[in-house]
Amino acid sequence: MNRIAIYPGTFDPLTNGHLDLITRGLGIFDEVIIAVAPSLKKKPLFTLEERLAMINEVIKDIKGASVEAFDTLLVEYVKKKKGVAILRGLRAVSDFEYELQLALMNRRISHDIETVFMMPSEEYSFLTASIVKEVASFGGSVKDFVPVQVEEALKKKFRHM
Ligand code: ADP
Repeated sequence: MNRIAIYPGTFDPLTNGHLDLITRGLGIFDEVIIAVAPSLKKKPLFTLEERLAMINEVIKDIKGASVEAFDTLLVEYVKKKKGVAILRGLRAVSDFEYELQLALMNRRISHDIETVFMMPSEEYSFLTASIVKEVASFGGSVKDFVPVQVEEALKKKFRHM
């Protein structure tokens, strides 16, 4: 049986921390579907289309990884994709409370879908998409933190602002 995990998030933009998690996820699941939420309330820097295109480019050589947008209840989406688990990342203790709430709410709505947490490599433990955007907005280099396609997209975005 093909074991599919859904990795949901905003991915505004995708960082090396996200990538690290995708690779780790593929160590235990046959497929990881990166599910990008529009997250309009968070006022994303990149449009949904830009985020999807960037991720597609970055993961094109990673076997088992794919990307899609979703804008329904997460557990409904997981069922539709025949996923067995929701994959989420835990960086520091600060992630824990929110992630626990989310996981328990999802379990309440659908008790047969598990949330699996994975820890990224230490070097990505303090990496957030927000900090990456902040640094890039002031012209700082983010090349150690994001794939090259994302680095280019950030440069382009802030050049036009
Ligand atoms: P959301 O809006 O759902 O928080 P994000 O794109 O910020 O979307 O994050 C998606 C998931 O990836 C979350 O579970 C988050 O904890 C995880 N994540 C974000 N950054 C990292 C990182 N540097 N290392 C590991 N996991 C991460």
